[in-house]
Amino acid sequence: MPNTEQVNLDWENLGFSYHKLPYRYRAYFKDGQWCQQGLTEDANITINEGSPIFHYGQGAFEGLKAYRCKDGSVNLFRPDQNAKRMQNSCKRLLMPEVPTEMFISALQEVVKANQAYIPPYGTGATLYLRPFIIGIGENVGVKPAKEYIFSVFATPVGNYFKGGLTPTNFLAADYDRAAHKGTGQSKVGGNYASSLLPGNLAHERGFSDCIYLDPIEHRKIEEVGSANFFGITRDGKFVTPKSPSILPSVTKYSLLYLAKHNLGMETAETDIYIDQLDNLVEAGACGTAAVISPIGGFQVGDDFHVFYSETEVGPVTRKLYDELTGIQFGDKPAPKGWILKVDLDD
Ligand SMILES: *Cc1c(COP(=O)(O)O)cnc(C)c1O
Repeated sequence: MPNTEQVNLDWENLGFSYHKLPYRYRAYFKDGQWCQQGLTEDANITINEGSPIFHYGQGAFEGLKAYRCKDGSVNLFRPDQNAKRMQNSCKRLLMPEVPTEMFISALQEVVKANQAYIPPYGTGATLYLRPFIIGIGENVGVKPAKEYIFSVFATPVGNYFKGGLTPTNFLAADYDRAAHKGTGQSKVGGNYASSLLPGNLAHERGFSDCIYLDPIEHRKIEEVGSANFFGITRDGKFVTPKSPSILPSVTKYSLLYLAKHNLGMETAETDIYIDQLDNLVEAGACGTAAVISPIGGFQVGDDFHVFYSETEVGPVTRKLYDELTGIQFGDKPAPKGWILKVDLDD
């Protein structure tokens, strides 16, 4: 029987780190079908040394959050979108798709079983959910696995970038994370493996992270490696890059909708050239983990460009943040189908 009584952690200072919770979900794919094991207390996975996930990176993951509302209920934000995106990642890497219903019920089970660890309303912290699928089994040649594990674990988290709504600075990467016809649109480990070195170089120079440029000419902004990029133009338009090597962020598409429908702004997915940054009066990184993290300054080669301010969040970015988080935490009405309540009772 899972403990349902709230535990006490230092909710305000969680950061974004792994905290081992009591329960996680597992399912196995074998002989062409999924077999659901359900919840387990074992945080370790023992698999064959030849498993394709180890050598050839055959695996994909997702990231979403459970939000504690003022009334004690718990929200999932657009989990169907994460299910769909994982299915697309699976298609790209020749892995069996996890059905949407199984994906969402796994999330529900994990949140319910670990409900004592869902951060309280008002702390800004959330329960981060990490679904993933890996190719396993005896193998050595380059080919897709015959067997797979799908699992979901959870960990309570606070801010991803240390600033929260205080702007931080970013560096234009000298490396690419993905190619146009590569796996940029898939949430797969390889994209992240290739981002470790440029990420480290950015951290060493005091930046929050790097911003990747288009892999063809390195003239346009792509994204922030773990979050998408958006800007507010001088004439009040919400713009975000369009490129085949960007990961389609659920947060980004939600902001495109909210900017248009709730804030009455014009929006566009378009090219954002690094030699035309003066057109942008605000900029930010957006994603489940990053939420909305304002970008203060952006170092491109020798040029340091400040968007709104290095110390203060811009007014439109703040409005977007309030709209988005208001919906996620249940304080504002959500567009139809965006919120799924978790059933916390037996
Ligand atoms: C997960 C991810 C994002 C953010 O997507 P959300 O659905 O908003 O969480 C952005 N870029 C990359 C590379 C990602 O892996």
